[in-house]
Amino acid sequence: MHAYDLLLQRSREVAGYNSTASVLAWDQETYMPEKAAPYRAEQLAQLAGLAHRLATAAEVGDWIKACEDIMPACADDLECELRQANVREWRRDYDRATKLPGRLVEDLAKTTSLAREHWAKARGASDFSAFAPWLEKILGLVREQADCWGYEDQRYDALLDAYEPGARVATLAPLFDDLQARLAPLLPRLRAATASADPKRLEGSYPVAAQQRFDRRVAESMGFDFEAGRIDSTVHPFCTEMGPRDCRLTTRYNENDFTSALFGVMHEAGHGLYTQGLRPEQFGTPMGTYLSLGIHESQSRLWENQVGRSRAFWGHWYAEAVEQFPRLASLPQADFWLIVNRVEPSLIRVEADEATYNLHIVLRFELEQKLVAGDLAVSDLPAAWNARFEELFQIPVPDDRRGCLQDTHWALGLFGYFPTYTLGTLNAAQLFDAALARVPGLEDDLQAGKYARLLAWLREHVHEPGRRFSPAELMIRATGSPTGADAFINYLQAKYALA
Ligand code: ZN
Repeated sequence: MHAYDLLLQRSREVAGYNSTASVLAWDQETYMPEKAAPYRAEQLAQLAGLAHRLATAAEVGDWIKACEDIMPACADDLECELRQANVREWRRDYDRATKLPGRLVEDLAKTTSLAREHWAKARGASDFSAFAPWLEKILGLVREQADCWGYEDQRYDALLDAYEPGARVATLAPLFDDLQARLAPLLPRLRAATASADPKRLEGSYPVAAQQRFDRRVAESMGFDFEAGRIDSTVHPFCTEMGPRDCRLTTRYNENDFTSALFGVMHEAGHGLYTQGLRPEQFGTPMGTYLSLGIHESQSRLWENQVGRSRAFWGHWYAEAVEQFPRLASLPQADFWLIVNRVEPSLIRVEADEATYNLHIVLRFELEQKLVAGDLAVSDLPAAWNARFEELFQIPVPDDRRGCLQDTHWALGLFGYFPTYTLGTLNAAQLFDAALARVPGLEDDLQAGKYARLLAWLREHVHEPGRRFSPAELMIRATGSPTGADAFINYLQAKYALA
């Protein structure tokens, strides 16, 4: 058997175990009875161990090497190009997985699972000192991880690269500086433009059954295939892929405000459309796998914000919303639109509006670079956080619970993850602009609640390529330029009529 076919077979076998683990993990979050938890953890650990052993076995390295040695030149042969791209990505995955010693992988898994509990307690008590030793230990392991993976410029690059292949501080830092410098003067104007919005006017009674009906109608109109997916409810909403034709979304219903579940569903369905748009015949290979977190997040944010928070969207959907939720009848559509687009600096990242959200990321990006580099001592983190937060937001941080303890990422060892949220925001604005410019009549479609041609454009330029191009290449091919802040800043100005 040819080495390529052996790799294909192994890759699909590993995907089989991983997707089976996804079914179990989804069940754990949705329907699993409480007492099943300890054994479920064992099952998941067994599957993860099995998948890891199969993916990192010595023969896999030999097969990759054999493919690399006989790589032909592909003159305009797409199949040949896709095979080579698979080999390139298998190499990347294999190297990343095999460069970490088993001891480090285990130590990280054990430490972060314990740290998570300590973080939750420390956050509850707003007591950073209880979490500090854990953060110290995690940083030590994360630095070791970066050293094993290797880097050219700085350690943090190796971590960033795990979530956003090819991303480097040298390009991201100027991008984030530019974004922050342009957001700073814009934010007071966005605030003023939405100051008259009173969210209390939206509060009321929104029965869950009516929300489920409405949310499903919206997700269906976006093109989410309910014969290849479903929506359930969980405490923490997510989207997970269980196989080539099985994508599960979850959301959380708030009976006082239907928009939180709705925008949650549009966000997760955006992730889901990406998953459903990957080529099923490539499932289990890099060409059938999502590209990066910054690209994944661009899809969720595009549907949630560029589509879901637009005037065009509500011009079409508001009448139906009023039908489902009669209490909206007394709230004019224009006032409703302003409420769901209100810009207001606040302490908590996950509650932030789409404009100020990015300053939360700027803050974390700056601080985690310093933590990883050792330029900021763990004990100095709360003070550094509070000082920079106040500079960015002009709000004092009252306690660590609402400050540097609010997110779970660092407790899980996820350093280099935060910037992908803002990359997603910037990519979303840029991709949406490109679609508007390249699909004639798209604006009319959106006014009419028709999303098929927008989805088709995203399918072709973002979903179907899988991991064929790097995130930077994909953005250039789809939009004509690498990820920048222009489209997002223009989008905000146009949306609030400040241009
Ligand atoms: Zn997301």
